[in-house]
Amino acid sequence: MIKRFLFFHGLMSTALLLLSAFVFAQNKSIDVTHYEFEIHVFDHTDEIKGTAQIHLTAVDSISSITLDLEGYHGDSINPKGMTVSQATWNTTPITWEQSGRQIHAHQSLASGQNGILTLVYSGVPSDGLIIDKNKYGHRTFFSDHWPNRGSCYLPLNDHPMDKATSSFKIHAPSTYKVVSNGQLISAATLPKDASQTESNQQNWSANDQHPKLWEWHMPHQIPTKVMVFGVADFDTASYAAVGNVSLRGWVYPEDAELGHREYAAASEILDFFEKHIAPYPFDKLDQVQSKTIFGGMENAGCIFYHENSTGGDGSSEDLIAHEIAHQWFGNTASETDWKHLWLSEGFATFFTGFYLEKKYGDEAFYTYMDAAQERLTQFANRYPEVVVVPDSTPNLMALLNPYSYQKGGWVLQMLRTELGEDLFLEFIRAYFHKFAFANASTTDLITLLESYSKKDLNPLMKHYLYHPAIPHIVWTHIDSGTVIAHLEGTDASLQLSRVQYEYHTEQDSEDDQVGDISISTNPTVVLLPKNADIGSLKWNTDRAYLLGPAEHYKP
Ligand SMILES: [Zn+2]
Repeated sequence: MIKRFLFFHGLMSTALLLLSAFVFAQNKSIDVTHYEFEIHVFDHTDEIKGTAQIHLTAVDSISSITLDLEGYHGDSINPKGMTVSQATWNTTPITWEQSGRQIHAHQSLASGQNGILTLVYSGVPSDGLIIDKNKYGHRTFFSDHWPNRGSCYLPLNDHPMDKATSSFKIHAPSTYKVVSNGQLISAATLPKDASQTESNQQNWSANDQHPKLWEWHMPHQIPTKVMVFGVADFDTASYAAVGNVSLRGWVYPEDAELGHREYAAASEILDFFEKHIAPYPFDKLDQVQSKTIFGGMENAGCIFYHENSTGGDGSSEDLIAHEIAHQWFGNTASETDWKHLWLSEGFATFFTGFYLEKKYGDEAFYTYMDAAQERLTQFANRYPEVVVVPDSTPNLMALLNPYSYQKGGWVLQMLRTELGEDLFLEFIRAYFHKFAFANASTTDLITLLESYSKKDLNPLMKHYLYHPAIPHIVWTHIDSGTVIAHLEGTDASLQLSRVQYEYHTEQDSEDDQVGDISISTNPTVVLLPKNADIGSLKWNTDRAYLLGPAEHYKP
């Protein structure tokens, strides 16, 4: 995803850093294979009514099944959270206990035993499903799960490791349209009487419009953080299909013209990533104007963008590229744990720059990477101890920082430099294919990298992913033709094999002369022509590496 303020102001959102998300350990004792959610949403109340069928297998022998679901707060002023009223294992009623953000269903299972846990529940979501008026004052409902806010209203094993297929059956007033992951199976208006008798849970008020049942099914295993539905008065349009992939836009009717013009860029972007990475992993791609708290949220095949992303002037192109890149990186090849977030965000950041470079040229890429470095530098000045892959993640929202995004993106740019673009893309494709519909850690990526490089890239990966310091070049000149340069801010193991330098000569100050050297903490001699203008010497002008400003040492 993208934090909203990065796009509006180019500044870090400290507000988001202060938001905290509860962290709970991954429940490894079960493996959920499929979620089927049936949810009723209403106009007259923010209470939702849900039935969840959770298809799961016990990984260990367990005495009860534990899932994440925020329980009822019991706060009379602000009563939120979910209350379970019924639980069954296959067809047998069972007892359960809710405590805090978990539910324990009292069913013992032998290792390898599978079945369906059904939970009937209701409540007002505290988060994870944003029920609010949109900017035009119309009521809307939007899932917004990252990182583990989905379990505020859905019973989930809410961790990126436990991927599953999903179905959303949404009963909503018939004035709305409903969008979700996967394919639309059916959308049918229900007779009001029929809907009232089909379940005594439904409680439609006389003021509600006749409900309509929308059924969506996602046939691919995805993380819970990117399972969603959205309910609003949408104007929909189809964009140019890419092969068999259909693309659509879902925007507020007031923004229909400009919104569809803006979001239609998705076709060209999807086509670009298919050509450079791999066939699109899902069946369709929807672009949805929404109330997400982020600038954009990469929900699988169903991207939610912030409300003001519909400029119609191309101003959201990089945002759209970022979220589409996530369909491969994050949604399909996912991180094993939160601390490896750069495998999602660093990839989406780099591949946005890569797209801009191929479409608009080198200067667009340099501008993008310079801005990335500037954000990283500003953040690093305030939080000097942060690293890309931290030991622990006490606050998941705090991971949404320029180390995960911009520095992670720079790490991929440096791999492109070291491997060359063709081999780099071959490596990226191999990484994607190896971990598609599965999970990877940073170590998994580094291990795979070893078979793609003749050079040991461990020092580069270790330095940039696990240390906060950004090295810089220190150089001096003996005479106008002899320069000596070395790296500072790192140890002797780091060797950057192709650092570009640029200068002009006194006769011809217009045309830059270019060369490159391999550099480490050991001094390296660079021989320039005698008539080189030392004052014009610049380093890393092709943004091959993440380096701090070069320092000219004058003895
Ligand atoms: Zn992202």
